[in-house]
Amino acid sequence: MADLTVKEFMQEIIAKNPGETEFHQAVQEVAESVLPFINKNPKYRETKILERIAEPERVIMFRVPWIDDKGEVQINRGFRIEMNSALGPYKGGLRLHPTVYLGLLKFLAFEQVFKNSLTTLPMGGGKGGSDFNPKSKTDNEVMKFCQSFMTELFRHIGPNTDVPAGDIGTGAREIGFMFGQYKRIRNEFTGILTGKGLNWGGSLVRPEATGYGCVYFTQAMLKAVGDSLKGKTCTVSGSGNVAQYTIEKVTQLGGKCVTLSDSGGTVHDPDGISEEKLAYIMELKNVKRGRIKEYAEKYNCKYFEGKNPWGVKCDVAFPSATQNEINEADAKELVKNGCIAVGEGANMPTTPEGVKVFQDAKICYGPGKAANAGGVATSGLEMSQNSLRLSWSREEVDKKLHDIMLAIHEQCAKYGKEGKYIDYVKGANIAGFVKVADAMLDQGVV
Ligand code: NDP
Repeated sequence: MADLTVKEFMQEIIAKNPGETEFHQAVQEVAESVLPFINKNPKYRETKILERIAEPERVIMFRVPWIDDKGEVQINRGFRIEMNSALGPYKGGLRLHPTVYLGLLKFLAFEQVFKNSLTTLPMGGGKGGSDFNPKSKTDNEVMKFCQSFMTELFRHIGPNTDVPAGDIGTGAREIGFMFGQYKRIRNEFTGILTGKGLNWGGSLVRPEATGYGCVYFTQAMLKAVGDSLKGKTCTVSGSGNVAQYTIEKVTQLGGKCVTLSDSGGTVHDPDGISEEKLAYIMELKNVKRGRIKEYAEKYNCKYFEGKNPWGVKCDVAFPSATQNEINEADAKELVKNGCIAVGEGANMPTTPEGVKVFQDAKICYGPGKAANAGGVATSGLEMSQNSLRLSWSREEVDKKLHDIMLAIHEQCAKYGKEGKYIDYVKGANIAGFVKVADAMLDQGVV
C-alpha cells in the first residue's frame, strides 16, 4: 500500500466536512504527527483507523426551545458529538457560547478522544453544547434553558454510555440544573454528569483539576530541562475556571501570575495576583458574573481594552481562555520576551503558525490535549467514586491527578523525544492514537 500523505488525507476531510475550519485544523495537526507513524505500521493504514477516528460515531443535533423572563420564546440549537467509544463511555464537556456550531464541537470532540486516551483512564471521547449565551441571563433563564436542553439530551446519555461535563459557559450552576432535570425525567440518581456539587456526588478537586493539572504538567516539562516554576513570572489568559486554579497552583509553587483577561480585555498586575486578589476574582466571576476590568479599578493596575496578555513579558505563559488566542505574531512576541514554557489550559489556543514558532524556538510547549487533561482525568475519578458510592479525600484525588499528569508527561516524552528536545505535540498525538487505534483493531470494523 502506498504511503498516505497529509495533503491527500486532508483533501478528503475538507471535502466531507465543508466549512468546519477548527475541525480541519485539529485533524491536520494530528495527521501531521501520526501519518508518518501509520505509514510505517501497515496494520493501522490498511484498516483505515485514522479515517475512522476522524468520523464521529454519532452526531446528535436538536432544538432547545425555552421561554425567557419577558415571556418570549427563544430557540437555541443543542449538540452532542459522540466521537469515539473504543476506550469507554463517551466523555467530554458541554460548551455554552454563542460561537458554538457543529465544526467547533467536532474539533473539541476529536481532541477529546486523544486527551482521554492519554489520561490512562477508560474513557471514550465526546463533546457537546449549544449556541446559548449564559452571559446576561438571569438564573431563572439559565435554568429554563438547561432543563429544555436536558429534556432532549437525557435519552442519549447514561453512566455507561455518555457522561458530559462542564466547559466554557457550563459551570457548577448549569451542571446542577441539568442534573436536576435528568433525575426528574428518569427518576434515577446516577452519575450522568461530572462536575457535580460536592454534597451530591461531585469529586473533591474536580473544580481545580484542569488548572492544577496544567501547572503540574508544565512543572514536569520544566523539570525535564532542569528548571522549575519557582520565582517565574507567568501570564494567564481568561479568568474562568481554568485560569483561576492555574493561578492558585502557580502561586502555591512559588511562581507569580501577573495577568488575567476576558473577552473585554486584559489586566496587568506586576505585583502578582495574591491569594486575596484571587478570592476577589472568584467572587467577581463566579458569583457576581462581572467583568475583569473591575479588577483593574479595584487594585489600581493597567487594563488593556480589547487586548490579550501575550505582549506582557513573562517566563511562562498559560493560555486558559479559548481556541486560537495565540497567533504567530503573539507567539513571536512571547519568545522574543524570553518565554521558556507554554502550558495550554485551553483547547487548541495556539494557531498552527504559532505552534511552529514555539517549536522552532525549542521552548517547552505543552499542547492542550496533554496539558489540560487533568480536568477530564478527575472527571474519570468522579465517575469511579460514583460507581463505588464513596468519596475520596482531597489529598487522595490530588495525588491521583498529580500522578496522572506525570504519566501523561512520560507518554509524551516516550513518543516525542528528539535528542534532548521533547516534541510534546508529536508525543501526545502518537501516544493518544496508539491506545485508541489498538482498541479499535481489537473490536473489529464497527
Ligand atoms: P469559563 O467559561 O469558566 O471561562 C472562560 C474564560 O475565557 C472567560 O474568562 C472568558 O471571558 C474567556 N473567553 C471565552 N471565550 C473567549 C473569546 N472568544 N475571547 C476572549 N476570551 C474568551 O471556561 P473554562 O475556564 O472552563 O474553559 C477555558 C478553556 O479551557 C476552554 O478552551 C475549555 O475548552 C478549556 N478546558 C476546560 C476544562 C474544564 O474543566 N473546565 C477542561 C479542559 C479544557 P468572557 O467571560 O468574557 O467570555
